[in-house]
Amino acid sequence: MDERLPEPLLERAVDLAADLAPRAAEFDRDERLPREVVKQMAEAGFLGATVPAEWGGLGLTPLQYGELTEVVGKACASTRALLTVHTSLVAETLAARSSRRIKEKYLPDLARGRRIACFALSEPGSGSDAGSETGEMSTTYTEKGDTFVLDGHKTWISFAGMADVLLVIATDGGVGSAFLVDRDMPGVEVRPISGMLGNRAAHMAEVVLSGVEVPAENLVSGIGAGFAFVANRALFHGRYSIAWAGVAIAQAALEEMCAYAARRDQFGARIGSFQLVQKMIADAVTDVSAARELCRRAGRLRGKRSPEAIAATNIAKYFSSTVASRVASDTVQVLGGNGCWSGYPAERLFREAKILEIIEGTSQVQQTLIADFGLTEFSKKDWVGKR
Ligand SMILES: Cc1cc2nc3c(=O)[nH]c(=O)nc-3n(C[C@H](O)[C@H](O)[C@H](O)COP(=O)(O)OP(=O)(O)OC[C@H]3O[C@@H](n4cnc5c(N)ncnc54)[C@H](O)[C@@H]3O)c2cc1C
Repeated sequence: MDERLPEPLLERAVDLAADLAPRAAEFDRDERLPREVVKQMAEAGFLGATVPAEWGGLGLTPLQYGELTEVVGKACASTRALLTVHTSLVAETLAARSSRRIKEKYLPDLARGRRIACFALSEPGSGSDAGSETGEMSTTYTEKGDTFVLDGHKTWISFAGMADVLLVIATDGGVGSAFLVDRDMPGVEVRPISGMLGNRAAHMAEVVLSGVEVPAENLVSGIGAGFAFVANRALFHGRYSIAWAGVAIAQAALEEMCAYAARRDQFGARIGSFQLVQKMIADAVTDVSAARELCRRAGRLRGKRSPEAIAATNIAKYFSSTVASRVASDTVQVLGGNGCWSGYPAERLFREAKILEIIEGTSQVQQTLIADFGLTEFSKKDWVGKR
């Protein structure tokens, strides 16, 4: 399997990252990603990174996509969020789960970034439990002739503020289905949300759907496929992207921490020579290496379409997002007062890292899934000597 990004793509990604990194603080402050950045991502082909070439994408392997996510995510978390949402949650899911008709209608435009997509699952009353039997999803669909009528309220929808297409999960008496909704369909109202902790430039919005008539051909994967077949698949892709986003933020924070510790003097010595500071650096170096290896393992298993890829992705997402938080927190610590000030990137990385522990399934949800896996996998087997 191709493990590394081909050289020309890597160069393109590194050039883009070099352009983004000095502007990430400005995007964060302004709470918007300029259209021109979206255009740059589209022109580089990155918005179709994992979409097969036959639909206009780059057809990257999971490991290549991971590398791309790390390079972009290290420079700007909100731009990386566009990859997670548009490319992983929506385009990659449609490539895997939608009809030929939907693919023809939407995928080439999404892959080339001519249209932007977002993923609408969460609601004010439905979060971690979306799709569970006890969940209280209120967005409904009703069949009406050759259309479905959607009503409901979604919230925390990244990039809804700029998206042209929404992948909406709705329910009819507990039967979840997924629909592609065009932003300009009558009855779609987008209400921007500002003041987020992180991903501040990700055009966050609420979406209110009032009697939106969606053509039947925009039903993704059939009635009843919304949770198990579409949303779960989307989260499988999204969690992989977030796992690499954790590596990206942790690596960026580690570099800040080390650069600062290597030049700041206190008590007549470099703070990097103090053993208590060195402990934070050593733990960060170790954690980042471990997180990256877990992501690579998940990537290899995904590339082989192994059933183990699901657990490996959850493990990578859980570990890597907690590592990002820990390393970013220690980076703030090492920078002292400067770490608490927006003149340095540490405080932004700290905020961005926390977001990763919440999105695409909180850390507690990942722990639950990983524990279920452990109880199934390790309760009855003797693993001594097994590989
Ligand atoms: C920056 C950002 C971007 C987002 N983007 C999107 C998006 O694009 N599309 C979208 O649909 N959603 C999006 N979300 C929503 C996100 O997916 C939810 O916030 C997340 O799933 C958690 O749901 P909740 O906020 O309702 O928290 P809740 O589910 O209410 O959880 C609150 C707390 O309870 C804990 N908890 C809940 N259930 C359990 C349990 N069974 N066991 C142990 N602990 C539990 C949680 O871990 C958490 O700590 C985004 C959120 C943020 C912050």
